[in-house]
Amino acid sequence: MPSHDVLIIGAGLAGQRAALAAAQSGASVAIVSKVHPVRSHSVAAAGGINAALNPEDTWESHAFDTVKGSDYLGDQDAIEIMCREAPGEILWLEHAGVTFHRNETGHLGTRAFGGASAARTYYVADITGHAILHVLYEQLMKHSATVDRYEEWFTTDLLQDDDGRCIGAICRNLRDGRMEVFNAKATILASGGAGQAYTPTTNGLIVTGDGIAQAFRIGAKLMDMEMIQYHPTTLAGNGLLITEGARGEGAWLLNAEGERFMERYAPNKLELASRDVVSRAEQTEINEGRGFPDGTVALDITKVPRRRTLEALREIVNIGRDFAGTDITREPIHIKPGQHYIMGGIKTDVDGQTTVPGLYAAGEVACVSVHGGNRLGANSLLDTLIFGRRSGEHSAKLALQMPMPNTPNSRLDDAEGAIAAIMNRPQGGRRVAAIKNELGETMNKYVAVFRDADGLNKAHEIVRRLMEEAPEAAIDDHGSVFNQDVIAAIELGYMLDCAEAIVVASIERKESRGAQFRTDFPERNDAQWLKHIDISVNGADVPKVSYSEVTITRWEPEERTY
Ligand SMILES: Cc1cc2nc3c(=O)[nH]c(=O)nc-3n(C[C@H](O)[C@H](O)[C@H](O)COP(=O)(O)OP(=O)(O)OC[C@H]3O[C@@H](n4cnc5c(N)ncnc54)[C@H](O)[C@@H]3O)c2cc1C
Repeated sequence: MPSHDVLIIGAGLAGQRAALAAAQSGASVAIVSKVHPVRSHSVAAAGGINAALNPEDTWESHAFDTVKGSDYLGDQDAIEIMCREAPGEILWLEHAGVTFHRNETGHLGTRAFGGASAARTYYVADITGHAILHVLYEQLMKHSATVDRYEEWFTTDLLQDDDGRCIGAICRNLRDGRMEVFNAKATILASGGAGQAYTPTTNGLIVTGDGIAQAFRIGAKLMDMEMIQYHPTTLAGNGLLITEGARGEGAWLLNAEGERFMERYAPNKLELASRDVVSRAEQTEINEGRGFPDGTVALDITKVPRRRTLEALREIVNIGRDFAGTDITREPIHIKPGQHYIMGGIKTDVDGQTTVPGLYAAGEVACVSVHGGNRLGANSLLDTLIFGRRSGEHSAKLALQMPMPNTPNSRLDDAEGAIAAIMNRPQGGRRVAAIKNELGETMNKYVAVFRDADGLNKAHEIVRRLMEEAPEAAIDDHGSVFNQDVIAAIELGYMLDCAEAIVVASIERKESRGAQFRTDFPERNDAQWLKHIDISVNGADVPKVSYSEVTITRWEPEERTY
């Protein structure tokens, strides 16, 4: 039975950074990923990573921009830590081998990003996530004596002892279907977001909210789940992302009348207002009839010198050509707001500890909460690395003082039984993909840029109906080798749990803040709602709602304008 000081579930940026930190702190580590680590969704990150590293910039300015961007829902102690530690992390990455862009003077160059008062986004063309992920993986190889990699292993359940402490997990080897108990003194969830609960989304097919649901099911609190980010520039239909880097380089947003409409919504920051503001502006233009017939507005990247686009935005040149038939260097491309990121997740402290002892979380799966109501572009990669590292260090320290739990193999029985039950389902029910589509389209219709009580209640009814139907969904593959049918059935359950938590929290928050805009409560209401909404499991019933305080260290809430 694999036994390690620290078990890390997820090998994106948060998981790999946590693994390196735990290994360097002297712990034995297992890192599990349902796909090969460099196929983790972090590989898609495009535009860059924020840090106040230039001498004329300050971490306080970065922190204030983040607090303001969060619509004052972010916890300022966590934001201070993230922004203070950011410059050191960029230099660490650079020294490890990340080939960040250099400017004409040979120094690390930056680009502008939304909601920021300085150009502080460090980048590698528009493949920043790819570049960092590969360097971390190289570093991980160096630690192969103490870090065991379980690539293409799928975690199905977290394990607890009689006192409720997390003591590891059950995982399935996707290559042959074998299940194993993974014993661990500390477990870190780094399993990413839940974008696939929406259709379309910018997120890959593997981003199915597994960790959020697994932690919720064993009693961990979730926080800020209502805060779902719609990115302003995605392709209609397939949801592919056109990076914010394009606007950072100077692209304009235009409505069908050719008007640069952001002048009306954010006269100072224009296209570089924060994402919630830009997405609402676009959706308003579309709803009020100033969009194109395909339900979009236009992003005009021809404002960026062609040579610069070909050098710094080359991936979106390919995306425009291959997926929209548009040469972005010569004509505007049609875009619309699309689901992109979940600000909420498993509630943690600044060392990644969740409300379940022995269980940590870091990266998009977690909510520490540095993003509050709205994440600033290029702050997520930073979040994954800073809090991934901190979780790795803290869990290693804790683990080195503890005995190894001794979990009996009989704990596999329930998990194996659950897989057998999926395999043995009778044919005839709707397929997993059909249920998933209905879920995604429901969320995208009712729990999107604009929300109201009627739509949210309708969404909740549908999600509940789908939760009843999902355990009957038919599967076709009954084999043990790379059985993605079984995995998709399990993932559907995770997405439904996440969707219900999102809907319940959105119904609960009766105000408009950050990404949650309630047309029936259009104002921000600090007197009643300057607080986090926490969501916990309640048996098979609708999840329980409770509240926790927002930590304010130095920036009192103010009116938010851009
Ligand atoms: C198209 C796109 C572009 C983006 N660009 C930027 C950007 O420029 N800057 C920025 O700051 N942010 C960006 N983001 C956001 C950022 O990329 C993500 O929030 C971040 O990379 C998430 O990293 P993570 O380590 O938390 O999770 P991920 O990278 O998603 O990794 C999750 C890991 O968990 C594993 N896993 C999941 N479930 C299981 C399971 N059941 N069993 C075993 N393993 C499991 C997966 O295999 C994977 O290894 C972008 C997002 C998208 C979608």
